[in-house]
Order: sequence, then structure tokens, then C-alpha cells
Amino acid sequence: MKTYHGSCHCGAVQFEAGIDLSAGTIKCNCTICTKLRFWPAIVKPEHFRLIAGDTELSNYRFNTKTDQHQFCKHCGVHPFVIGNSPRWGVFYGVNISCLDDAPIEELVNAPVTYLDGRNDNWDSPPLEVRHL
Ligand SMILES: [Zn+2]
Repeated sequence: MKTYHGSCHCGAVQFEAGIDLSAGTIKCNCTICTKLRFWPAIVKPEHFRLIAGDTELSNYRFNTKTDQHQFCKHCGVHPFVIGNSPRWGVFYGVNISCLDDAPIEELVNAPVTYLDGRNDNWDSPPLEVRHL
């Protein structure tokens, strides 16, 4: 596991997170992940630290209203989601596209697990993933 630093686009929100990119990332076809092309790594809360921007974040909740999709009020970028699921418990889904110091080769080599969130089917991948 390495400590990475990340931020939103305007820099109001800054965070660091301990992530093992070689352990895998997520792409999901649910409605919000599709629209955002959200690409998170799942991180335990103790491995995430918000450095700046607590008051600059807003959060969007829908459906069960369980997951807090955090976004910067100024630039609109979604750096992370705070969720709670049977699979992961309370988790941070850190948008690895927001990491400022992750080498490109670590990103392209990070395994991707595809989730069929759109159909609430968490046990097998979606039939089509190329658009995610
Ligand atoms: Zn911002």
C-alpha cells in the first residue's frame, strides 16, 4: 500500500489515501458511475484523510440515500464517495482519476473489477463494460 495525494480540479479539496492499486479498482454501470465515468479504489476509512476542503464539499444522495457522493462546490469534481455496503462495510470509494501523484503506469496496470450496479446484481459483471 502506498500513500497517494489527491484533489478536486480547483484544489479546494485535498486528501490523502493509502491504496494498493495492484489490488484492484472498480468500474460500475450504475446510473451515477456511468454518468461520472467514476473509477474508484475501495479504501477503508482509516486509510483516508481529508486534508482540506471539508466545508467546500457538498454531497449528493439518491435512491437508498446510503452513499454520499462527495463533490466540490466550486469545480464540481467528485473526488470520493462514502458508502456502506454488505461487501465492504463503511468504505471510501476514492476516485483514482483525482490522484495527483499516481504514476500513469500504476493506473493502467491497476486491475479493474466491473460491477453490475445498474441491475443491483453484485455477483457477476455486466454484459457490456466498454463504455464505462
Ligand atoms: Zn474544486
